[in-house]
Amino acid sequence: MKNYWSLRLSKFIVMIGLLGPFISFGQFSPPKDLPPKKIILDEPYLFPINPGTQNWLAGTMGELRNTHFHAGIDIRTNNMAGVPVRAAQRGYISRVIVSPYGYGHVMFLTHPDGNISVYAHLDQYKGQVANYILNKHYEQKSFDLDLEFAPNQFPINRGDTIALSGNTGGSNGPHLHFEIRDENNEALNPLSFKFDEIKDALPPVAQKIALKAIGIDSRINGRNGRTEFYLLRNGSNYFLSNEIEAHGKIGIEILAFDRMDFSQFRCGINEIEMVVDSQKVFSQKIDKINFTQTQDIVSLIDFQTLKTRGLRFNKLYVDDGNPLKYYESGFNRGEINISDKPLNVQINLKDTYGNQSTIHLKIKPATHANYLALAPLSRPFEYEIANNTLSLHVKACSSKGKIMLYEKGDAITLEPNYKVIGHEVYLIDLQKIMPDSAATCQGMVPFHLTDNIPSTIEYTYYSDLADIHFKPNSLYDTLFLNVSKDHKGKSEIFSIGRSTEPLNSPIKITLKQIGEPDHSKLSVYYTEGRGYKFIGGTWEKEKVSFTTSELGDFILLKDTIAPLIHRIQCHASSARFRIMDNLSGIASYTATINGEWLMMKYDYKTGILQSERLDKTKLLKGDFELKVTDKIGNEKVYKQKIL
Ligand SMILES: [Zn+2]
Repeated sequence: MKNYWSLRLSKFIVMIGLLGPFISFGQFSPPKDLPPKKIILDEPYLFPINPGTQNWLAGTMGELRNTHFHAGIDIRTNNMAGVPVRAAQRGYISRVIVSPYGYGHVMFLTHPDGNISVYAHLDQYKGQVANYILNKHYEQKSFDLDLEFAPNQFPINRGDTIALSGNTGGSNGPHLHFEIRDENNEALNPLSFKFDEIKDALPPVAQKIALKAIGIDSRINGRNGRTEFYLLRNGSNYFLSNEIEAHGKIGIEILAFDRMDFSQFRCGINEIEMVVDSQKVFSQKIDKINFTQTQDIVSLIDFQTLKTRGLRFNKLYVDDGNPLKYYESGFNRGEINISDKPLNVQINLKDTYGNQSTIHLKIKPATHANYLALAPLSRPFEYEIANNTLSLHVKACSSKGKIMLYEKGDAITLEPNYKVIGHEVYLIDLQKIMPDSAATCQGMVPFHLTDNIPSTIEYTYYSDLADIHFKPNSLYDTLFLNVSKDHKGKSEIFSIGRSTEPLNSPIKITLKQIGEPDHSKLSVYYTEGRGYKFIGGTWEKEKVSFTTSELGDFILLKDTIAPLIHRIQCHASSARFRIMDNLSGIASYTATINGEWLMMKYDYKTGILQSERLDKTKLLKGDFELKVTDKIGNEKVYKQKIL
């Protein structure tokens, strides 16, 4: 899963984002009732692509992705599908999954040492199992398959060609995604198996660091919040052009990647440690991936920066509620306290091959800095919420800088905490005041903050606009909840929380007082950028209920248009179509020839359907029919008599 041709395929990447196919990755576990005996292997693991020759990677294990840690290595296949995939070790085929999403066509081999090797995004299977799988498609009348096998069904020798590489599922360019999992189904680092096929003498590359205020009294170059700095390079050492002045508790974040020899791809860094005045304060090592925890990556990266700018900054501090086990214990979890003396900070980045880069920072103690050249505000006011603090920035205007905060009818006057060029900054401790709005010289600022949701207990929020049910583990941290309703064109739109705050598990929302009386084909969509992601919902009078794994804006839209079916070719040897839907998305498709089920392989990235007959010698002749349905039930049928 690598954003290969990110420019050429950016459209598809947007689609992938909208469809969200990555959710179910970790559920592909091997059959549980066949505990393999641990055996010492006589031969080492074989590299699965062109063994014995130099290979190149486009991704490493532990790499940070938007919704998960990358669980394997992405082996390049010369930008093409069809490269033979070799069994890394002797054993047997234990599982095969076929799906248009996620891993696509994937094969699992179980080995005598208890490990499982995984081969994903395959174009096709090879050997006896290939025919068995094709028969299963027709037996189950389904393109999607999930088959488990007993050890004696399809034994495999080390080096056997088990498949051809491809680009199926959520892959954005041809490659082999390869994993090695242990007997507990946790992903190991395949590069720790010491394959000679991969060479790496290049150290990691550091691009930027960010300093983040932890608490309302902290300052970084005179201001609260989060500030980013570009790094200057000298060999494998990195520096800042200026010293940083700071005060109070802060956290450091880093934007960095590993570079492999002769590859332009940005890979992950497995080990990071931070030393302050020669004392280690933070250590992170990603050497195993537990699939039930991979979504907790949202507490390792700066989620707000990911959501707003698509950048994955690795936090070098461990927030409350971060359940990941990649940290060495015994430190103060990476938080740095700056009081009266300057600190020397050193951050070491290490890849699997031991190549290392070091970042050197000097932080001087100061509450006020001389240079407060923030970018001028483009709007009259802006605000953000982070670490229990609401920071409100207001463009300077005639008044004396005082604002009024309103909380449930009470009014409180507030002076600016500090001024920067062109605007004034107000810091509000949300544990003390949770304002619904503020009156400023630039007008009213609506916050719509209505409740303070604890992260550890079950909690239901009730109001005239919405009821929201949180489970004990729905949140990573306390949520200062905002709820409001607005209109976008003729559509009703509800804001429930902020998309920059992650959920740990789904919550149930009931939207109330829906004005639109006709609920047919009306459903809830999550707004993401300029796009909409179908959610659905269950109606009861003027209320609609649904579960969601994301906070943000929910809009009610009608999908009245059936999917599009575009014929590419449809003749005696092949049927090939492109299917699309304008809003809710494709739910299902079925093709028949003379009333009999016909398999169509589906690639959701391109919308392509391609026929594959059980008996390849039989011509596709007679009455062909293709029926495609969207998620709201709009249906389109294509019919043709093939002569
Ligand atoms: Zn991958």
